[in-house]
Amino acid sequence: MSLKPHLPPPLHYSLRRSSRAKTARIVVRVDKIEVVAPPHVSELKIKAFVDAQQDWIRSAVLRVAENARTIPSLAPEFYTDGASIPYRGKRLPLQIMHTAKQTVQIRLQDDNGFIVALPADLEPDYRSELIRTILIRWMKKQARLHMTRLIEHHAPRMGLFPRSLKIKTQKSRWGSCGPNNDINLNWLLMLAPPEAMEYVVVHELCHIRHKNHSADFWGLVAEHLPAYQQQRQWLKQQGASLMKGL
Ligand SMILES: [Zn+2]
Repeated sequence: MSLKPHLPPPLHYSLRRSSRAKTARIVVRVDKIEVVAPPHVSELKIKAFVDAQQDWIRSAVLRVAENARTIPSLAPEFYTDGASIPYRGKRLPLQIMHTAKQTVQIRLQDDNGFIVALPADLEPDYRSELIRTILIRWMKKQARLHMTRLIEHHAPRMGLFPRSLKIKTQKSRWGSCGPNNDINLNWLLMLAPPEAMEYVVVHELCHIRHKNHSADFWGLVAEHLPAYQQQRQWLKQQGASLMKGL
C-alpha cells in the first residue's frame, strides 16, 4: 500500500493578460482552461490562485463537457438524400442527383431545398463528407453576400463604416470589431434566422462608435434595431447548437 496521497493530475491552463481585468478569473471552455489576469499580477500568485480553485475548476470542466455532449447539433449525421439542412432559421431538404461529370455542384432551389449533383460512383461515407465540405464552402460564400448587403444597408444610416469584413468559423463568438474597425463575422449565422444575423451585424457596427457594452452602446443598438432583445435572446438560447456547425 502506498502512503502517498492520490494527487489529482496538474491542471493545464493558458494565461491571458488583460488590462481591463480588475482581478484574475478562470474561464473554463470545452477546449481549454484560461486564466485572465491583470498585467501586474505575478505568475506565482496566479498559480496559487489556480491551485486554490482546483475543485471548482475540475467540476466546471465536467459540467462544460456534459453540456457540450447534451447540446443538440443542427447538422444531419450523414449528408444523404432527404437529409435536413439548417438554413436561415429553417430546415431544408437535401436532394442528391447523379451526374456523369466528375464535378460536384450545389444549388438552392428556393424553399424546396438544396440540390447536389455529383458522380454516382462515390463511396457513401466519402460522399457524405464531400457534400458537407461543399455545403460549408457554399454557406461561407452566401454569408459574405448576405453580410455585405446588411452592412451596405445599415452603415450609411448609422454613419459607421467598417474598414474590412472577414468571414470566420468560430466556436465561441458571432462577431467582433477590432481597434481599427475591422469586422469579423461568423458564417454559422447562415443557420440562424435572418433577423439574428442582422442583429449581429448592427451590434458590430455599433462597436465602431463604442468599443464596449456600455448603456450608450446598447442605446445605439436599440436606436437602429428596436426589437434587438428578441434576437439576442434567440442567439443565447440556440447559439450553442448553431456553433456545433454543419
Ligand atoms: Zn459586442
